[in-house]
Amino acid sequence: MLGLMQEWPLNCHKLIDHAARQYPDREIVSRSIEGPIVRTNYAELRQRSLKVSQLLRRDGYRRGDRIATLAWNTARHIETWYGIMGIGAVYHTLNPRLFPEQIAWIMNHAEDRGVFVDLTFLPLLEKIAPSVGSLRQVIVLADAKNVPDVNLPNVVAYEEWLAAADGDFAWETFDENTAAGMCYTSGTTGEPKGVVYSHRSNVLHAMLAALPDSMGISSRDVVLPVVPMFHANAWGLAHSCPMLGAKLVMPGARMDGPSIYELLDTEKVTFTAAVPTVWLMLLQHLEETGKTLPHLRKVVIGGSACPRSMIRKFQDNYGVDVVHAWGMTEMSPLGTLCTMKPQHAETEGDERLDIQQKQGFTPFGVEMKITDDDNRELPWDGSTFGRLKVRGPAVARSYYGGTGAEQFDEDGWFDTGDVAHIDHSGYMQITDRAKDVVKSGGEWISTIELENLAVGHPALAEAAVIGVSHPKWGERPLLVAVCKPGKEPDKSDILRFMEGRVAKWWLPDDVAFVDEIPHTATGKIQKSRLRELFRDYRLPGD
Ligand code: ADP
Repeated sequence: MLGLMQEWPLNCHKLIDHAARQYPDREIVSRSIEGPIVRTNYAELRQRSLKVSQLLRRDGYRRGDRIATLAWNTARHIETWYGIMGIGAVYHTLNPRLFPEQIAWIMNHAEDRGVFVDLTFLPLLEKIAPSVGSLRQVIVLADAKNVPDVNLPNVVAYEEWLAAADGDFAWETFDENTAAGMCYTSGTTGEPKGVVYSHRSNVLHAMLAALPDSMGISSRDVVLPVVPMFHANAWGLAHSCPMLGAKLVMPGARMDGPSIYELLDTEKVTFTAAVPTVWLMLLQHLEETGKTLPHLRKVVIGGSACPRSMIRKFQDNYGVDVVHAWGMTEMSPLGTLCTMKPQHAETEGDERLDIQQKQGFTPFGVEMKITDDDNRELPWDGSTFGRLKVRGPAVARSYYGGTGAEQFDEDGWFDTGDVAHIDHSGYMQITDRAKDVVKSGGEWISTIELENLAVGHPALAEAAVIGVSHPKWGERPLLVAVCKPGKEPDKSDILRFMEGRVAKWWLPDDVAFVDEIPHTATGKIQKSRLRELFRDYRLPGD
């Protein structure tokens, strides 16, 4: 017997329809690429997205076509997403921080037919476009008067292009499993791999992301997604916020401390999200200026491990709740979030920080387990670590074109490539990426744990741990550190600080001070590059 309820395909345009009907005046504020702050609302955003759909259709795009975006977080960027999805085409976010050759490779692999591009990235696109054979149109997200002369095929200014539409158009309808969006992993190992989101997965992810014990956002919130839309869908916020009617504040191209602070302050932002490096800049700005964060209620921090000192500062100095989160492009991207279950609700101080340093537990819609190398499930005891595997309706079941098939097993589990333990209460903690873990005498040492500990030292700004080859142990940890301006600690000082807080045999064998630690295009420490730089490093006593 079948249920007798309606078929209501989970199409993404329903999110923006809902926002325009229930919260028509709720604002979307953007720092435009041209400079000024511009304001629109959900009713207008829907109308303009419909025009995008209408024109894409007029210009010959069809269902399933990939249309790239090379753009910062602005209302225009959101309009392009909904416009593209509205005809069953696929938005493909490009990460401008990648090398031009990598972007060209990705565009060719995806066979992008068009691209919406911000003014900032025109020089970059000029380098890339000649080698992308599929590209037939470039739509510059600006007024005609701001578009310079460029050497690109079929260039049109967005505002003039949009003016040609009357908006008398209806979203097309199609199966909820139709592809909606696409994003390539940055390819820190091997070639980039394409993840293809569906309408259904985006809508379900928007719901699971918004739940009270996930991000916990409501229509009363003012949300600043600092995390870029090209970095794993801005963690779903461009879908969740219209679903909820939350006001959006889009930071455009400026993510430095003073610029972010200005938006937090003038727009009275209550909720924000980004990787730790962004928050380092903001906290530094606050410390230098003595400014405070009276409106901000909650900050979600993920993408790489959030240092304990950062959680403490936000909470103790500024009264802002930190939610540590873990996820990946392949998971749309949210996997776990660290909010307080009832048994932890009353914990305070260091005990609370101990929990918050973990990446948290899964919302409904994500399943996780840890296994050993033979795929045997490991206990949730808070110390046994193994490969972290996940499944759920917003988790990839394969990569575009079938690459990386070894990461997916026949029971539907996806091997994240992360190593983690899970405690009795279901809180997961990432101890490493499988390829970064230091293997000393057959035992694993968690580089993330050592890094978190080291950056707690008052003289250090950033720290990374890598394995360096060692004749006896195979590998031993080396701490690579950047000092805060004006500080010159010595090595023994740092090691003494770490002593007693981790097993003795985990302590790094040496500390190397550097001016800068290399980062990936998504703001993570680039361990592969560091390993290259320190390949011939001799540890003391070796
Ligand atoms: P990319 O691999 O392209 O940089 P992702 O954003 O998809 O992009 O990266 C996902 C990976 O980032 C995860 O597999 C994990 O290794 C790491 N990561 C994400 N969030 C955290 C976190 N809170 N703590 C530690 N590592 C994290």
